Amino acid sequence: MRVFLLIGPPGAGKGTQARKLVEKYGWSYIATGDLLREEIRRGTPLGQQIQKIVEGGRLVPDEIIVQVVASYLDAGRDYLLDGFPRTVGQAEALKELLRQIGGEIGGAFLLEVPEETLIERMIGRAKIEGRTDDTPETLGVRLREYQEKTAPLVAYYEKEGKLHRVSGVGTVEEVFERLNSKVEFLLTEVHE
Ligand code: AMP
Repeated sequence: MRVFLLIGPPGAGKGTQARKLVEKYGWSYIATGDLLREEIRRGTPLGQQIQKIVEGGRLVPDEIIVQVVASYLDAGRDYLLDGFPRTVGQAEALKELLRQIGGEIGGAFLLEVPEETLIERMIGRAKIEGRTDDTPETLGVRLREYQEKTAPLVAYYEKEGKLHRVSGVGTVEEVFERLNSKVEFLLTEVHE
């Protein structure tokens, strides 16, 4: 069982690229942001607990998100994780989880996009999708959360020899091509 990771700041295009990747490679898809928004929409106890945090643009506590992901991971499949891990604590927890179920990280793709482009994209997305955490007030919070808590993952996965940097600038197809060539490389490397 292999797990591929998509890491990047808000607005980097993770969701768009993730959907294209899972369609092409047949991986199971876990987008923690989508799962949490669904819990909030349904008003479950978890949803009520995390609503203010998510809508304020902050990260939910590691214990909560790790439990959610653990409940979805199944040893018999390959996965693309979109938006998890987002802290070094979560990355450590994922490592332990994979050790327990006999899985490994196939690769961690970092989508790199300059901050000005992120802000333009998120303002555009706020208008189209109406996401409650895409308001101008929360943009700054989300970018800061990324810089403080998620950016350290870059060094973490670099050290693990799993990091693959991909420029997220350009059209959806251009970015997808870059990701694709990394994935193809990793898949052939594993089989040789
Ligand atoms: P996303 O759709 O990936 O941008 O996630 C939307 C929001 O869900 C984030 O701003 C966080 O509040 C929360 N969230 C999603 N994934 C995680 C995670 N791995 N750790 C903590 N919070 C998360």
